[in-house]
Amino acid sequence: MSYPNTQLMIAGQWQDAADGRTLPVFNPATGEEIGRVAHAGIADLDRALAAAQTGFETWRDISALERGKTMRRAAVLMRERADRIASLLTREQGKPLAEARMEALAAADIIDWFADEGMRVYGRIVPSRNLAVRQMVLKDPVGPVAAFTPWNFPINQAVRKVGAALAAGCSIIVKAAEETPAAPAELIRAFVDAGVPSGAIGLVYGNPAEISGYLIPHPVIRKISFTGSTVVGKQLAALAGQHMKRVTMELGGHAPVIVAEDADIELAVKSAGAAKFRNAGQVCIAPTRFLVHESIRGDFITALAGYAQGLKVGDGLAEGTQMGPLANPRRISAMTEVMQDAVKQGATVATGGARIGETGNFFAPTVLVDVPLDAKVFNDEPFGPVAAVRSFNTLEEAIAEANRLPYGLAGYAFTRSLKNAHLLSQRVEVGMLWINQPALPSAEMPFGGLKDSGYGSEGGPEALETYLNTRAISIANV
Ligand code: NAD
Repeated sequence: MSYPNTQLMIAGQWQDAADGRTLPVFNPATGEEIGRVAHAGIADLDRALAAAQTGFETWRDISALERGKTMRRAAVLMRERADRIASLLTREQGKPLAEARMEALAAADIIDWFADEGMRVYGRIVPSRNLAVRQMVLKDPVGPVAAFTPWNFPINQAVRKVGAALAAGCSIIVKAAEETPAAPAELIRAFVDAGVPSGAIGLVYGNPAEISGYLIPHPVIRKISFTGSTVVGKQLAALAGQHMKRVTMELGGHAPVIVAEDADIELAVKSAGAAKFRNAGQVCIAPTRFLVHESIRGDFITALAGYAQGLKVGDGLAEGTQMGPLANPRRISAMTEVMQDAVKQGATVATGGARIGETGNFFAPTVLVDVPLDAKVFNDEPFGPVAAVRSFNTLEEAIAEANRLPYGLAGYAFTRSLKNAHLLSQRVEVGMLWINQPALPSAEMPFGGLKDSGYGSEGGPEALETYLNTRAISIANV
């Protein structure tokens, strides 16, 4: 199967950029150029904005029931096309085929959930102080949305925004990542083929700063949603603030994993290890700071290093691959820098620690031990396959370390004690905490962070709330 060139979706039509500009797309397992993606200019953005406005006016006037039916057809198409989409995703992003397929199928589940949730956008009738007056609270779609999505989960990060926006009755323009364009284009194609009206869904690629700088202040756009780094998120949130636009920010994390004295070590290694090395660690909720009770330190490190060594690293298309390459050469440089810094500061490499081969962006699953608190890896999001381990003596000490950083996205803990579990759930400052289990985000649960990890949620009923205006209407009898 060939890898396609990716076009823009504007006003219901797949099209090249008006000026014909394109960008190259590379396979991170081979370093080879595999295709091109259209690079939108301002003229294309203007047409996408005009279409989003008319698309909004059409889509908001369709009942939630009918909107839900159309969305569910898109979910069916995602399931039917999952194998082909997975192959595109693996070739442009690197993740193993099984993970790519799971991402496409999970998108279908997320669409179905939002299709149903759109039927539950309830207002209220509020008892009035004057019996001749009826007071109502209405929830209306906020308007056309601009969504910016990254390359690590090109389908998943987009579908959470598209699902919520369409379910609420908004139109949406997605600016997906130029490095991984074909898979999110297939998501948008499923909605277009399912019958979402012209303009209600759009897709553009190009220069990220130029596109966000144009769309966010534009009067047509009423809501912004961004997934990506904290640095960029803060810039975009500031720009949105200047123009009084509603914002959801899903940003970086630095997840702590607290392994208490009474933890099931095997479960902790299996669950947190799988979460650490999934998508080669390029996951906003990936565990990074492994905080292990002093009494089980040795056993835990041996088991985690063994787990990392046992992973089969290779081309995501090859049978049996458990970890693919990093998505781009920038991540190899970032990992090398993280390693050099940690070792210089006194950390020990239990396993991994270096690039594999010269072709493709492969980096060995790595476990660093006795990492000083000052080391970069313990402070900045590594966004790669590096687990950093430190030990602790009391749970309070571990909680204080978990909360030390400005991030607050995900956290993990392993303990057999209900008392510990309750204390952790009360004190660890994260938007999502998984205790005694791997990360299991689902459409029905809130997904989002605290502190520098952003605000707003991309799961559960809260996800829809951010795409709705709340209006108070009072009608008096005359
Ligand atoms: P980056 O900060 O350059 O880009 C991150 C994402 O934001 C990319 O998709 C990019 O296209 C987009 N972006 C960048 N500048 C933008 C702008 N001005 N307007 C709109 N979009 C913009 O970093 P990168 O090298 O691509 O990725 C590395 C870092 O990004 C990681 O260390 C990680 O912290 C973060 N990241 C986070 C997530 C997440 O799921 N939260 C996903 C991908 C990357």
